[in-house]
Amino acid sequence: MSKETAVNKQTVLRCPTCKTLVTAEDDHFPFCSDRCRLIDLGKWASGAYRISSEVLDPGVLEGLNPGSGRPKDDDDGS
Ligand SMILES: [Zn+2]
Repeated sequence: MSKETAVNKQTVLRCPTCKTLVTAEDDHFPFCSDRCRLIDLGKWASGAYRISSEVLDPGVLEGLNPGSGRPKDDDDGS
């Protein structure tokens, strides 16, 4: 009986990644494992990457291509 009371006093949250119940005593709290923490961090990282990639314009990449503006067969008048 007293054991159950102690369990109820613990801080218990669900892992944001896989929804597993995690107690505050866990090393990876509020995640259930280091893997789930990395997955959650990855979500934020990929979101930031999407925002920065919107700045890139396809035309900029084409301008960086040295062969796009010069046809190779321009010396056919020999
Ligand atoms: Zn998890």
